[in-house]
Amino acid sequence: MSMVIVGGGLAAANAAKELRDRDYPGPVTVVAAESHLPYERPPLSKGILLGKAGPDDAVVNPQEWYAEQEVDLRTGTRAESVDLEARTVTLAGGEQLSYERLLLATGATPRTLSSFEASSLPVTTLRTLEDSLALKERLDRDLLIVGAGWIGLEVASAAVQAGGRVTIVDPAAQPLLAALGPEVGALFAELHRGHGVDLRLETSVEAAAGDLVRLSDGHELSPDLVVVGIGAVPDDSLARDAGLDVDGGVLVDASLRTSDPHVLAAGDVAVHDHPVLGRRIRVEHWDTAIHQGRHAARVMLGDEAPYDRQPYFYTDQYDMGMEYVGSVGPDGYDDVEISGSGLVEGLQVVWKRGGTVVAVMQANDWDAMDSLRARLGGA
Ligand SMILES: Cc1cc2nc3c(=O)[nH]c(=O)nc-3n(C[C@H](O)[C@H](O)[C@H](O)COP(=O)(O)OP(=O)(O)OC[C@H]3O[C@@H](n4cnc5c(N)ncnc54)[C@H](O)[C@@H]3O)c2cc1C
Repeated sequence: MSMVIVGGGLAAANAAKELRDRDYPGPVTVVAAESHLPYERPPLSKGILLGKAGPDDAVVNPQEWYAEQEVDLRTGTRAESVDLEARTVTLAGGEQLSYERLLLATGATPRTLSSFEASSLPVTTLRTLEDSLALKERLDRDLLIVGAGWIGLEVASAAVQAGGRVTIVDPAAQPLLAALGPEVGALFAELHRGHGVDLRLETSVEAAAGDLVRLSDGHELSPDLVVVGIGAVPDDSLARDAGLDVDGGVLVDASLRTSDPHVLAAGDVAVHDHPVLGRRIRVEHWDTAIHQGRHAARVMLGDEAPYDRQPYFYTDQYDMGMEYVGSVGPDGYDDVEISGSGLVEGLQVVWKRGGTVVAVMQANDWDAMDSLRARLGGA
């Protein structure tokens, strides 16, 4: 029985590892478009930018692991199409791989901004190792960051620490508004302004021509570099072209199976029917890629269990680290309890809807996480 995994990121590498950890003895092939060993992306906007980690630190399984475990890792190879009936994957170059079970772990691609098409400024997104290594060399300059989301704020933190001057623009009223709401978003605004970041909220890029950028608040600037961090779109074209059900990502059931029982999806590309949250959710976070990758491998081996882990993510910015568990979701929250002294001094946050805890967070208060997590689903 052949297992094929398409996508060479965190979910894919963890799925391959789990297959071998569960003593699956048959052929396993990982088809990876990037030319590197599968790697973790969080260091790309943190340790690597700060010069505290190198590319090797981000690798999931070392090169020898693939040889020792007889996992056929095809780096620099794109899967072009999937034939669900014949159960084959066609690679760039024409080779066909047969599968008994197929895992799609193709991740996501950063959104770009058309406003910069007439601009002569260097404009970058941050998704790959190459993006990170190139950005690291230019952090000590005048940066315009478009988007006050996780990546924009982490790049701002690294740039400030590298001696760069940073302007961030975002049309929302607070950074991280959709994820954390206005109360905690405002604390992140304070954190960045306290480090000298020119954070311009309710502001967008109106026009860019030559080396000049005009913002909607009338401000003009000519940065050395523009970093666009406005989210990512799931790489679901392989699944869509094959005829699998797709809607803003690959639709999977509670056990990560797609509309074809021989094909699963995991990580950033998967829109999961979450059994605990009771709704569909696509989570673009490190912990989900790891655990869905491993879970998908077990389902490929015949386990039917649903994936019921609550979404978890973390960020590190300046001297602050935070963790968040749960999901407020589209219905929002009607109550938020904030305790502690501040993001840097120590903070705990509990979001509730209808009296039930839907999400919790700690910042620089690592011991608080277990008791916060225990409150999820309770009062
Ligand atoms: C800069 C950055 C920082 C982050 N920091 C954090 C953080 O601090 N905390 C956190 O929780 N999360 C963080 N994340 C999110 C986390 O890294 C992702 O959720 C995770 O990488 C998703 O893993 P994945 O395997 O689903 O997708 P990916 O890691 O994107 O891997 C998918 C791979 O599939 C390949 N691929 C696509 N199509 C094909 C094809 N047809 N054939 C072959 N290969 C294909 C792609 O090239 C890619 O290499 C960060 C992400 C980024 C970009």
